[in-house]
Amino acid sequence: MRRKIVAGNWKMNKTASEAAALIDGIKAATAGIDQVDIVVCPPFTDLKDAAAACAGSNVALGAQNVHWAESGAYTGEISAAMLKEIGVQYVIIGHSERRQYFGETDDSVNQRTKAALAAGFTPIVCVGETLQEREAGKIEEVIVRQVTEGFKGLSSAELAKLVVAYEPVWAIGTGLTATPAQAQEVHALIRRTLAAISDGATAETIRIQYGGSMKPANAKELMDQPDIDGGLIGGAALKADSFADIIKAAL
Ligand code: PEP
Repeated sequence: MRRKIVAGNWKMNKTASEAAALIDGIKAATAGIDQVDIVVCPPFTDLKDAAAACAGSNVALGAQNVHWAESGAYTGEISAAMLKEIGVQYVIIGHSERRQYFGETDDSVNQRTKAALAAGFTPIVCVGETLQEREAGKIEEVIVRQVTEGFKGLSSAELAKLVVAYEPVWAIGTGLTATPAQAQEVHALIRRTLAAISDGATAETIRIQYGGSMKPANAKELMDQPDIDGGLIGGAALKADSFADIIKAAL
């Protein structure tokens, strides 16, 4: 049995004081829940206050990116050591907004994932097709490429430590959700691809989250699918009640 994981991707929302208040709300709304991994991923500037708010609770802290170099001339980037010192445990890598607006590629995803694993973080690596790719019948080609290239050179032991998020780009922030059957089909494809680059037993242990307009009303039917092991939540993670309701749907 894979333990479910529900993570909030706050994107570029919330100041540091707002972050602490939201985390306090999430803690109150999920008190006593320890059967699901709960993660919040605020912006970098919030992380220190967020770490204080998460301390000693059932809510773990994630960041939204990490650079592969240890330090140096990489203006605007953040290193693993910087995140580690604050108490970050998870890192989102390869989100479609990073791929779409900031030139993230399968190769940079690969480098960031390796750096995150080396630092002891749990990477949450995002994959997913655009609407154009879906309509052109290219789902399999895109997903297999993103998984194979993004995870190139990782051992089975390393793969077992990461989380994959299937986020169809057409469902992110649009209110359009993949049906449970559509999502399950791609999750199963991701697991088969993970098995091909490692082995069946390893692939069975890797958690694959769904992301894309997941909300309290659709979370349960999505997470009831055999290969859907939780959610990566954008909009609905910005309110304690809706985020907590999604977490409860994972129980
Ligand atoms: C996301 O950006 O990771 C996401 C899933 O966003 P939303 O839930 O708002 O579609």
